Amino acid sequence: MTGPADFDARSIPELARAVRGAEESARSLAERALKRLAAADADLNIFLARDPERALAAADAADRAGAEAGPLAGIPVALKDNLATADLPTTCGSRILEGFVPPYEATVVRRLRAAGAVIVGKTNMDEFAMGSSNENSAYGPARNPHDATRVPGGSSGGSAAAVAAGVVPAALGSDTGGSVRQPGSLSGVVGVKPTYGRVSRYGLVAFASSLDQIGPLAANVADAAAVLQAIAGLDPLDATSADEPVPDLVGAARAGAERGLEGVVIGVPAECFGEGLEAGVRERCEAALAALAADGAELRDVSLPHTPLAVPTYYLIAPAEASSNLARYDGVRYGPRWDAEAGLVGMYEETRARGFGAEVKRRIMLGTYVLSAGYYDRYYGRAQQMRERIAADFRAVFADGVHAIFTPTSPSTAFALGERTDDPYQMYLADVFTVTANLAGIPGASVPVGLADGLPVGGQILADHFDEATVFRVAAALERALGEAA
Ligand code: GLN
Repeated sequence: MTGPADFDARSIPELARAVRGAEESARSLAERALKRLAAADADLNIFLARDPERALAAADAADRAGAEAGPLAGIPVALKDNLATADLPTTCGSRILEGFVPPYEATVVRRLRAAGAVIVGKTNMDEFAMGSSNENSAYGPARNPHDATRVPGGSSGGSAAAVAAGVVPAALGSDTGGSVRQPGSLSGVVGVKPTYGRVSRYGLVAFASSLDQIGPLAANVADAAAVLQAIAGLDPLDATSADEPVPDLVGAARAGAERGLEGVVIGVPAECFGEGLEAGVRERCEAALAALAADGAELRDVSLPHTPLAVPTYYLIAPAEASSNLARYDGVRYGPRWDAEAGLVGMYEETRARGFGAEVKRRIMLGTYVLSAGYYDRYYGRAQQMRERIAADFRAVFADGVHAIFTPTSPSTAFALGERTDDPYQMYLADVFTVTANLAGIPGASVPVGLADGLPVGGQILADHFDEATVFRVAAALERALGEAA
């Protein structure tokens, strides 16, 4: 398999138009998705919950709505299992939330439904979104549809695999340090992390609240734009959601696909093309840069000098916030409870000891340590200062007239299951190109740029705050240019 298995040769906007015009039935799309779900899921462990009955009912509702149905009329979608759904469990890939059904629904889920989308199920993920391979799921890893002996990436690995396997044309993931873009890259699909504040986090189970953003994974750039268009925008239920007008993202993607990149300046940071990059990744990314230049973009060497500090900065701030956010899982308020006979403190201890996996515990301990009195300034305080310098690196580049930045998404292609589980530090280092966007709060996308030894490679496009339109324009131009070259 080379690209994502096509759900359908048509884009999401085309399919939705066909459903609204009754040329295509939403029910037949849902049936196709459910059939593929059953087939792919059995081998690849992609889903943690499946919802065939309600999916068919939602599809029938879209068919009945006809011309009145929304921009995603009848489009089958999958949701990462850290998005609250009132009719399906939300486990976050953890034992500590096994069987937990939230009493409310995430804003993004409500918006997808309102747009006519049909939710087929909840996807596998690293526990509480901590990981880059899906191997931290308490329910076993999802596998890569390109090669089932390899990881799909993480933490939104199930969502990436669901799109790559052609089960759904699009899925939602969450990205705290790369968890939409990196699995997009390793699974050969498009993944977009919006600007911090662009999409409401209401109903997204919190990992690191100052970094978390929900974003789409999709088979192509136009489809990702259509999904983000439907979920973006101010939400009074999330105080950090931004009161910024949402531009015409679908139009921006169309512009990139139809016109060249004349007048667009793309920065190429030397720090992202140094040592540690797999040869095949370097080759495909250099070919992508050549395609962008041939399409009219001006490539400019830029510097993001604090990039080497991004991984240590992220792995202080994210665990610090996680240790606070995960304090609420105590066996009282959510999910299962262990050893209720052991007294209150004993019950907390047993529940947390049994309910959390090793990586989550490692991060809670690390985060608790760096926030503790006496160490706070030395670790957390300094990490905050580094975060500001990383953000300043981007500000300087964009202030200099650069419209977008291109880097590899991940230094490697999909690795073998088990290959990196014994060495968390190696796993963390591979986040070097993605964590900077979360620390700075800027938007970014990973776009497939070809194969290396038969495995997908992703190129990352970053832009300034709230300039998703540029991300989509450049991403769509790149997709088209590479498609023409193939
Ligand atoms: N791989 C990173 C981590 O383990 C990013 C995770 C994410 O974006 N949710 O924290």
